[in-house]
Amino acid sequence: MNTNRRRWMQLAALGAPGVLVGGCWQRSHDATYGDKGSSPSEALPVVATTGMIADMVRSIGGDAVQLTQLIPAGVDPHLYKPIRDDVVAIVHSKIVFYNGLKLEGRMSDVLGAGSKSQRVHVALSDALDPSSLIGEASSQEVDPHIWMDVSMWSKTIGSIRDTLGGFLVHHRERLERAAGELIEQLEALDRYGKEAIGRIPKPQRILISSHDAFQYFGRRYGLRVEGVQGISTASEAGLQRIPELIELIGANSVPAVFKESSVAGKMIDAVIEGAASRRIELRVGKELYSDALGPVGSGAETYIGMMKHNFDAVAEALSGG
Ligand SMILES: [Zn+2]
Repeated sequence: MNTNRRRWMQLAALGAPGVLVGGCWQRSHDATYGDKGSSPSEALPVVATTGMIADMVRSIGGDAVQLTQLIPAGVDPHLYKPIRDDVVAIVHSKIVFYNGLKLEGRMSDVLGAGSKSQRVHVALSDALDPSSLIGEASSQEVDPHIWMDVSMWSKTIGSIRDTLGGFLVHHRERLERAAGELIEQLEALDRYGKEAIGRIPKPQRILISSHDAFQYFGRRYGLRVEGVQGISTASEAGLQRIPELIELIGANSVPAVFKESSVAGKMIDAVIEGAASRRIELRVGKELYSDALGPVGSGAETYIGMMKHNFDAVAEALSGG
Protein backbone atom coordinates (compact mmCIF):
# COMPACT_ATOMS: atom_id res chain seq x y z
CA MET A 1 0.00 0.00 0.00
CA ASN A 2 1.49 3.36 -0.92
CA THR A 3 1.67 6.30 1.44
CA ASN A 4 -1.16 8.27 -0.12
CA ARG A 5 -3.49 5.32 -0.02
CA ARG A 6 -2.55 4.60 3.57
CA ARG A 7 -3.28 8.19 4.57
CA TRP A 8 -6.61 8.01 2.81
CA MET A 9 -7.53 4.79 4.56
CA GLN A 10 -6.53 6.22 7.94
CA LEU A 11 -8.71 9.23 7.27
CA ALA A 12 -11.60 7.09 6.10
CA ALA A 13 -11.32 5.07 9.31
CA LEU A 14 -11.59 8.26 11.35
CA GLY A 15 -14.68 9.21 9.38
CA ALA A 16 -13.33 12.73 9.06
CA PRO A 17 -13.67 14.80 5.92
CA GLY A 18 -10.19 16.08 5.29
CA VAL A 19 -7.78 17.30 2.70
CA LEU A 20 -4.11 16.68 2.29
CA VAL A 21 -2.14 19.89 2.57
CA GLY A 22 1.63 19.92 2.57
CA GLY A 23 1.74 16.27 3.57
CA CYS A 24 -0.60 16.60 6.58
CA TRP A 25 -4.27 15.87 6.78
CA GLN A 26 -6.40 18.81 7.76
CA ARG A 27 -10.08 18.76 8.47
CA SER A 28 -12.07 20.14 5.59
CA HIS A 29 -14.74 22.77 5.91
CA ASP A 30 -18.39 22.39 6.79
CA ALA A 31 -19.81 21.81 3.33
CA THR A 32 -19.68 18.39 1.77
CA TYR A 33 -20.55 17.97 -1.85
CA GLY A 34 -22.50 15.54 -3.93
CA ASP A 35 -24.41 13.96 -1.04
CA LYS A 36 -27.78 14.30 -2.81
CA GLY A 37 -26.90 12.95 -6.23
CA SER A 38 -25.05 15.11 -8.65
CA SER A 39 -27.00 18.17 -9.68
CA PRO A 40 -24.66 20.79 -11.14
CA SER A 41 -25.47 23.23 -8.35
CA GLU A 42 -23.92 20.99 -5.74
CA ALA A 43 -21.05 19.62 -7.83
CA LEU A 44 -17.67 20.51 -6.36
CA PRO A 45 -16.10 23.52 -8.12
CA VAL A 46 -12.59 22.55 -9.19
CA VAL A 47 -10.00 24.30 -11.35
CA ALA A 48 -7.30 22.52 -13.36
CA THR A 49 -4.63 24.31 -15.36
CA THR A 50 -3.68 22.08 -18.30
CA GLY A 51 -5.82 19.71 -20.35
CA MET A 52 -3.73 16.74 -19.18
CA ILE A 53 -4.63 17.49 -15.56
CA ALA A 54 -8.27 18.35 -16.34
CA ASP A 55 -8.70 15.05 -18.16
CA MET A 56 -7.55 13.04 -15.13
CA VAL A 57 -9.70 15.07 -12.71
CA ARG A 58 -12.70 14.44 -15.01
CA SER A 59 -11.95 10.72 -15.20
CA ILE A 60 -11.78 10.40 -11.42
CA GLY A 61 -14.34 12.99 -10.25
CA GLY A 62 -16.95 12.46 -12.97
CA ASP A 63 -20.10 14.54 -12.60
CA ALA A 64 -19.51 15.13 -8.90
CA VAL A 65 -17.03 17.78 -10.04
CA GLN A 66 -17.74 21.03 -11.84
CA LEU A 67 -14.46 21.51 -13.66
CA THR A 68 -12.91 24.64 -15.14
CA GLN A 69 -9.80 24.17 -17.31
CA LEU A 70 -7.71 27.34 -17.45
CA ILE A 71 -5.32 26.65 -20.35
CA PRO A 72 -7.19 25.59 -23.52
CA ALA A 73 -6.14 22.92 -26.04
CA GLY A 74 -3.20 23.99 -28.21
CA VAL A 75 -2.08 26.78 -25.86
CA ASP A 76 1.48 26.89 -24.45
CA PRO A 77 1.40 26.71 -20.62
CA HIS A 78 4.91 28.19 -20.25
CA LEU A 79 3.58 31.50 -21.58
CA TYR A 80 0.34 31.30 -19.59
CA LYS A 81 -0.93 34.63 -18.30
CA PRO A 82 -4.13 34.45 -16.26
CA ILE A 83 -7.11 36.41 -17.55
CA ARG A 84 -9.87 37.86 -15.40
CA ASP A 85 -12.15 34.81 -15.89
CA ASP A 86 -9.37 32.57 -14.57
CA VAL A 87 -9.13 34.60 -11.37
CA VAL A 88 -12.92 34.41 -10.96
CA ALA A 89 -12.87 30.61 -11.45
CA ILE A 90 -10.06 30.20 -8.91
CA VAL A 91 -11.77 32.41 -6.33
CA HIS A 92 -14.98 30.34 -6.60
CA SER A 93 -13.22 26.97 -6.55
CA LYS A 94 -12.52 24.61 -3.67
CA ILE A 95 -9.52 22.92 -5.28
CA VAL A 96 -6.93 24.13 -7.78
CA PHE A 97 -4.92 21.32 -9.43
CA TYR A 98 -1.78 22.47 -11.22
CA ASN A 99 1.40 20.87 -12.53
CA GLY A 100 3.97 22.92 -10.63
CA LEU A 101 7.75 22.93 -11.28
CA LYS A 102 7.10 26.33 -12.89
CA LEU A 103 5.26 24.86 -15.88
CA GLU A 104 2.40 27.36 -15.71
CA GLY A 105 4.06 30.69 -16.50
CA ARG A 106 2.36 33.22 -14.20
CA MET A 107 0.33 30.82 -12.10
CA SER A 108 1.73 32.01 -8.78
CA ASP A 109 0.29 35.47 -9.51
CA VAL A 110 -3.26 34.15 -9.16
CA LEU A 111 -3.04 31.44 -6.53
CA GLY A 112 -3.11 34.10 -3.85
CA ALA A 113 -6.39 35.60 -5.13
CA GLY A 114 -9.41 35.71 -2.82
CA SER A 115 -9.65 33.91 0.50
CA LYS A 116 -7.41 30.89 0.55
CA SER A 117 -8.81 29.44 3.75
CA GLN A 118 -11.60 27.54 1.94
CA ARG A 119 -9.48 26.41 -1.01
CA VAL A 120 -6.76 23.79 -1.53
CA HIS A 121 -3.93 24.13 -4.04
CA VAL A 122 -2.43 20.89 -5.26
CA ALA A 123 0.71 20.72 -7.41
CA LEU A 124 0.65 17.23 -8.95
CA SER A 125 4.45 17.23 -9.14
CA ASP A 126 4.51 17.22 -5.30
CA ALA A 127 3.27 13.60 -5.45
CA LEU A 128 6.50 12.48 -7.11
CA ASP A 129 9.72 11.38 -5.51
CA PRO A 130 12.10 14.36 -6.04
CA SER A 131 14.86 11.94 -7.07
CA SER A 132 12.74 10.90 -10.08
CA LEU A 133 12.70 14.45 -11.46
CA ILE A 134 15.07 15.54 -14.22
CA GLY A 135 17.18 18.66 -13.70
CA GLU A 136 18.84 20.59 -10.96
CA ALA A 137 16.61 21.53 -8.03
CA SER A 138 19.36 23.85 -6.78
CA SER A 139 19.43 25.82 -10.00
CA GLN A 140 15.59 25.80 -10.09
CA GLU A 141 15.80 24.25 -13.53
CA VAL A 142 13.70 21.18 -12.93
CA ASP A 143 12.02 19.75 -16.01
CA PRO A 144 8.24 20.15 -15.52
CA HIS A 145 7.06 17.82 -18.35
CA ILE A 146 6.22 14.96 -15.99
CA TRP A 147 3.16 13.69 -17.96
CA MET A 148 5.51 12.50 -20.72
CA ASP A 149 6.42 9.43 -18.65
CA VAL A 150 3.10 7.63 -18.25
CA SER A 151 4.32 5.66 -15.22
CA MET A 152 5.20 8.93 -13.43
CA TRP A 153 1.95 10.65 -14.37
CA SER A 154 0.07 7.66 -12.98
CA LYS A 155 1.70 8.30 -9.59
CA THR A 156 -0.15 11.63 -9.34
CA ILE A 157 -3.58 9.94 -9.49
CA GLY A 158 -3.59 9.25 -5.75
CA SER A 159 -3.24 12.91 -4.92
CA ILE A 160 -6.23 13.81 -7.14
CA ARG A 161 -8.33 10.99 -5.64
CA ASP A 162 -7.48 11.90 -2.05
CA THR A 163 -7.96 15.64 -2.46
CA LEU A 164 -11.36 15.14 -4.14
CA GLY A 165 -12.22 12.59 -1.44
CA GLY A 166 -11.62 15.22 1.24
CA PHE A 167 -14.60 17.17 -0.09
CA LEU A 168 -16.69 14.48 -1.79
CA VAL A 169 -17.00 12.31 1.26
CA HIS A 170 -20.06 10.46 -0.04
CA HIS A 171 -18.28 9.61 -3.27
CA ARG A 172 -15.10 8.10 -1.87
CA GLU A 173 -15.86 4.59 -2.97
CA ARG A 174 -16.59 5.74 -6.50
CA LEU A 175 -13.45 7.92 -6.58
CA GLU A 176 -11.40 4.97 -5.40
CA ARG A 177 -12.83 2.76 -8.14
CA ALA A 178 -12.38 5.36 -10.90
CA ALA A 179 -8.79 6.03 -9.81
CA GLY A 180 -8.05 2.29 -9.84
CA GLU A 181 -9.44 1.97 -13.36
CA LEU A 182 -7.39 4.93 -14.56
CA ILE A 183 -4.22 3.46 -13.06
CA GLU A 184 -4.90 0.24 -14.99
CA GLN A 185 -5.50 2.15 -18.23
CA LEU A 186 -2.23 4.04 -17.79
CA GLU A 187 -0.35 0.80 -17.14
CA ALA A 188 -1.62 -0.47 -20.50
CA LEU A 189 -0.69 2.84 -22.16
CA ASP A 190 2.82 2.66 -20.71
CA ARG A 191 3.27 -0.86 -22.14
CA TYR A 192 1.92 0.35 -25.49
CA GLY A 193 4.54 3.12 -25.53
CA LYS A 194 7.40 0.74 -24.76
CA GLU A 195 6.34 -1.57 -27.57
CA ALA A 196 5.87 1.25 -30.11
CA ILE A 197 9.22 2.92 -29.42
CA GLY A 198 10.90 -0.48 -29.16
CA ARG A 199 10.12 -1.07 -32.85
CA ILE A 200 12.37 1.84 -33.96
CA PRO A 201 15.84 0.66 -35.05
CA LYS A 202 18.20 1.56 -32.18
CA PRO A 203 20.49 4.04 -34.03
CA GLN A 204 17.43 6.03 -35.14
CA ARG A 205 16.01 6.52 -31.65
CA ILE A 206 16.73 10.26 -31.58
CA LEU A 207 13.77 12.59 -31.04
CA ILE A 208 14.33 16.20 -32.12
CA SER A 209 11.49 18.68 -31.54
CA SER A 210 10.82 22.39 -31.04
CA HIS A 211 11.46 22.57 -27.30
CA ASP A 212 12.86 20.23 -24.70
CA ALA A 213 9.54 18.67 -23.60
CA PHE A 214 10.39 15.01 -24.12
CA GLN A 215 13.20 14.20 -21.66
CA TYR A 216 10.95 12.11 -19.39
CA PHE A 217 9.54 10.45 -22.51
CA GLY A 218 13.04 9.63 -23.73
CA ARG A 219 14.21 8.32 -20.37
CA ARG A 220 11.20 6.03 -19.96
CA TYR A 221 10.84 4.74 -23.51
CA GLY A 222 14.48 4.69 -24.59
CA LEU A 223 15.20 7.61 -26.93
CA ARG A 224 17.81 10.32 -26.99
CA VAL A 225 15.91 13.62 -26.92
CA GLU A 226 17.01 17.05 -28.17
CA GLY A 227 14.95 20.24 -28.30
CA VAL A 228 15.86 23.33 -30.29
CA GLN A 229 14.71 25.44 -27.35
CA GLY A 230 15.26 24.55 -23.68
CA ILE A 231 12.72 23.15 -21.19
CA SER A 232 10.71 26.39 -21.34
CA THR A 233 9.51 28.01 -24.56
CA ALA A 234 10.14 31.32 -22.77
CA SER A 235 13.90 30.75 -23.24
CA GLU A 236 15.78 31.62 -26.43
CA ALA A 237 17.58 28.97 -28.44
CA GLY A 238 21.35 29.58 -28.52
CA LEU A 239 22.89 30.49 -31.88
CA GLN A 240 24.89 27.29 -31.92
CA ARG A 241 21.89 25.08 -31.31
CA ILE A 242 20.75 24.62 -34.92
CA PRO A 243 24.22 23.78 -36.38
CA GLU A 244 24.71 21.32 -33.47
CA LEU A 245 21.45 19.56 -34.26
CA ILE A 246 22.22 19.37 -37.99
CA GLU A 247 25.56 17.79 -37.10
CA LEU A 248 23.78 15.22 -34.94
CA ILE A 249 21.20 14.48 -37.65
CA GLY A 250 23.89 13.99 -40.30
CA ALA A 251 26.08 11.80 -38.11
CA ASN A 252 23.21 9.48 -37.10
CA SER A 253 21.07 9.53 -40.27
CA VAL A 254 18.10 10.77 -38.23
CA PRO A 255 15.16 10.42 -40.65
CA ALA A 256 12.71 12.95 -39.18
CA VAL A 257 12.16 15.88 -36.81
CA PHE A 258 8.97 17.01 -35.10
CA LYS A 259 6.90 20.15 -34.61
CA GLU A 260 4.68 20.57 -31.55
CA SER A 261 1.04 21.67 -31.51
CA SER A 262 1.50 24.30 -28.81
CA VAL A 263 4.76 25.83 -30.12
CA ALA A 264 5.48 27.82 -33.31
CA GLY A 265 7.27 25.61 -35.87
CA LYS A 266 9.85 28.12 -37.10
CA MET A 267 12.73 26.58 -35.14
CA ILE A 268 12.12 23.20 -36.76
CA ASP A 269 11.81 24.89 -40.18
CA ALA A 270 15.27 26.38 -39.60
CA VAL A 271 16.67 22.92 -38.81
CA ILE A 272 15.13 21.48 -42.00
CA GLU A 273 16.48 24.36 -44.13
CA GLY A 274 19.93 24.03 -42.58
CA ALA A 275 19.93 20.29 -43.23
CA ALA A 276 18.77 20.82 -46.82
CA SER A 277 21.66 23.23 -47.43
CA ARG A 278 23.94 20.34 -46.51
CA ARG A 279 22.00 17.96 -48.74
CA ILE A 280 20.62 16.05 -45.76
CA GLU A 281 17.10 14.90 -46.47
CA LEU A 282 14.91 15.28 -43.43
CA ARG A 283 11.20 14.63 -43.05
CA VAL A 284 8.79 16.23 -40.63
CA GLY A 285 6.88 13.68 -38.58
CA LYS A 286 3.27 14.16 -37.53
CA GLU A 287 2.91 17.11 -35.18
CA LEU A 288 3.40 16.03 -31.56
CA TYR A 289 1.27 17.05 -28.59
CA SER A 290 3.83 18.17 -26.06
CA ASP A 291 2.36 20.62 -23.55
CA ALA A 292 -1.34 20.61 -24.47
CA LEU A 293 -4.03 18.19 -25.57
CA GLY A 294 -5.43 18.26 -29.10
CA PRO A 295 -8.77 19.81 -30.08
CA VAL A 296 -11.99 17.79 -29.81
CA GLY A 297 -12.17 15.31 -32.68
CA SER A 298 -8.38 15.07 -33.08
CA GLY A 299 -8.19 11.81 -31.12
CA ALA A 300 -5.71 13.58 -28.82
CA GLU A 301 -8.33 15.39 -26.75
CA THR A 302 -7.67 13.05 -23.81
CA TYR A 303 -4.38 12.33 -22.05
CA ILE A 304 -4.44 8.72 -23.23
CA GLY A 305 -5.23 9.79 -26.82
CA MET A 306 -2.48 12.40 -26.74
CA MET A 307 0.19 9.99 -25.60
CA LYS A 308 -0.94 7.26 -27.97
CA HIS A 309 -0.72 9.76 -30.83
CA ASN A 310 2.82 10.71 -29.73
CA PHE A 311 3.97 7.08 -29.47
CA ASP A 312 2.56 6.27 -32.91
CA ALA A 313 3.88 9.45 -34.59
CA VAL A 314 7.41 9.01 -33.20
CA ALA A 315 7.54 5.28 -34.00
CA GLU A 316 6.26 5.81 -37.53
CA ALA A 317 8.55 8.73 -38.50
CA LEU A 318 11.76 7.39 -36.90
CA SER A 319 11.32 3.86 -38.22
CA GLY A 320 11.40 5.13 -41.82
CA GLY A 321 14.40 6.41 -43.76
ZN1 LIG B 1 7.13 22.63 -22.35
